Amino acid sequence: MCRGRAVEWDANKDPVRFVGTDTDISAVKASEEELQHTHKKLQLALSSIDAGIWEYRSTDNSVFWDARQRLIYGVPLDLSPLPRDVWEKSIHPDDLDDAVRKADEALVQRCDYSLSYRIIRRDGEMRHIDSHVSFLHRDDQGYSLVGLDLDVTEDWLRSQELILANQNAENRNIELEKTRQKLENTLLYDTLTGLGNRRSLENLQKATSLNPSIHKSGPAVMLMNLDGFKQINSVFGHDAGDYVLRHTADILKNVNHFDTFPVRTGGDEFALFLPDPPDDNAILELATDLIAQVSQPVNYQGFKCRVGISIGVARTDPDVGDSSQLLRDADLALNKAKSTGRKRVAFCEPALRNEAARVKGLGDELLIAVERREFTCAYQAQFDMQTGELSGIEALARWPRRDGFIRQPSAFLPVAEVMDLIALVDKIILEKAVADFQSWNKTGLKVPKLSVNISKSRLRDGNLINDIKSFDIDYTTLCLELLESSFLEEYDPYISNNLEGLKSLGIEFEVDDFGTGHASILSLVRLEPNRLKIDRAFIEPIQQSQQQAQLVKSIIEIGHLLGMKIIAEGVETTDQYDILRGMGCDYCQGYLLARPMSFAEFTRKFTV
Ligand code: C2E
Ligand code: CA
Ligand code: CA
Repeated sequence: MCRGRAVEWDANKDPVRFVGTDTDISAVKASEEELQHTHKKLQLALSSIDAGIWEYRSTDNSVFWDARQRLIYGVPLDLSPLPRDVWEKSIHPDDLDDAVRKADEALVQRCDYSLSYRIIRRDGEMRHIDSHVSFLHRDDQGYSLVGLDLDVTEDWLRSQELILANQNAENRNIELEKTRQKLENTLLYDTLTGLGNRRSLENLQKATSLNPSIHKSGPAVMLMNLDGFKQINSVFGHDAGDYVLRHTADILKNVNHFDTFPVRTGGDEFALFLPDPPDDNAILELATDLIAQVSQPVNYQGFKCRVGISIGVARTDPDVGDSSQLLRDADLALNKAKSTGRKRVAFCEPALRNEAARVKGLGDELLIAVERREFTCAYQAQFDMQTGELSGIEALARWPRRDGFIRQPSAFLPVAEVMDLIALVDKIILEKAVADFQSWNKTGLKVPKLSVNISKSRLRDGNLINDIKSFDIDYTTLCLELLESSFLEEYDPYISNNLEGLKSLGIEFEVDDFGTGHASILSLVRLEPNRLKIDRAFIEPIQQSQQQAQLVKSIIEIGHLLGMKIIAEGVETTDQYDILRGMGCDYCQGYLLARPMSFAEFTRKFTV
């Protein structure tokens, strides 16, 4: 920087001599530039973070806000001078005290501070502000507070969302944990009785296998099923049923013969796990005791509810020393106990296991037989008792083995039933019987009527009507024999629907084995079968017993009264035949007149 001035002048007063100084001010220039640069950077930074600048001066109590500060607070840009209390008036009432106190303290203590608060702008919108304030001391001009206010509303909203999301996640985790625990509990415990459940039984079994036993016989399981529980539910209602279940559970909890763990394995099925039972006699004693206790009537709201209990016992096989089979064995024993009558105990013996294995093998074979449609029909003729003529035939299922031996229904139908294959067997028999029936009619062998047995599950089959409609026969020549129990137990919409549809096709119905089930007259009236078939068991004694004969006579009379025809089955002697004929029985079937025979045999015998 150059500075100078004239020191001498001529007559004309023009300067003739100058004196001056040259100073190198590069450093000053540089720092000036630096300052400007910094200022620019500051501006840029402020604009990018949306910060407003303000200053409060103590000397004249004045307030300065830059344009961005005004924008943030929603104060008009041209409002000047700013009212002294513009800041206080903008602050959210809930945050005001705090903000003012903080500023006052800073002035007293001459320090910097930062603060977050909310403001309410003139347009009513609420914003979140982060304020950073410096205390500035000026020797000549007193002091001032300089602040930088940031509008952090967007950040705040985002953080709120995050907090909420976190909270939700946390709540979800808590819920999940609760559900997991609940699940774990329900997985091990039965809520109704508070007993363990089937899974806990398996756990018990595993745990015991690690512990040494005193009696050396290994653990055992008693599996129990209530007799007559269904009736409690249907007669007294489900609350009564629950009550009986809890009562039974209490009996099991209070067993004190030796160490036992009670569990409810499902429905009306319970089990006692015996980790180390003394011997078979002790188990039998306990079982007998339980049967006696459970058989005591239970008082429920003034009603006496009676149930019984059947017990199957499985012990660790001493040869194998393995207890993994226990539940399966106990199940077999329980089935045996139930089949030999109620309120019984049965122990699982090797014979039972062998039988179970045989049934399983048969079941596997049966699956293949169904697939290959290996079943055939035997036909037994039925006769009109007044004219002695062939009135119809009954198709009876047969299962020929590859060695030529033919299996009777009793040898495979129960297994088919258990395996849920019976409807398929019935379907195959019906199709084969209809084909045979058609071929007789074509060749001139006149068979007036074809009767086919039908199981409950086939009667519920949604395809039954369509299957039958696909046969090219006169529907009125087809008769379906229903076992009593298959349709009279309780109302079943599928069965009702099928019965109605089939009846409207003209198909006839016959109640099979009448007298053995519990068909009431009322349910007979409702079903309106075309025929009643009196069970073999009633026919057999009519020669010897006057009383039995009278019973059969009454059945015939009642049947006739209801507009039904009567057929007697299992007629083996001429005496039986004559008595039945004398009673007005319409038809008969039995070894006396014809045994069941193959298609070929029947064709040979009845072609004239
Ligand atoms: P059911 O319907 O009562 O059939 C009559 C059974 O009695 C037949 O035995 C027949 O051979 C036998 N029987 C006929 N007359 C006499 C007689 O004078 N004396 C004696 N002692 N028995 C006689 P089967 O063929 O062994 O059939 C047994 C049962 O199997 C049938 O009893 C029926 O309930 C069932 N069944 C047979 N075929 C089928 C079928 O295709 N489907 C279904 N679901 N069940 C069938
Ligand atoms: Ca039958
Ligand atoms: Ca029968």
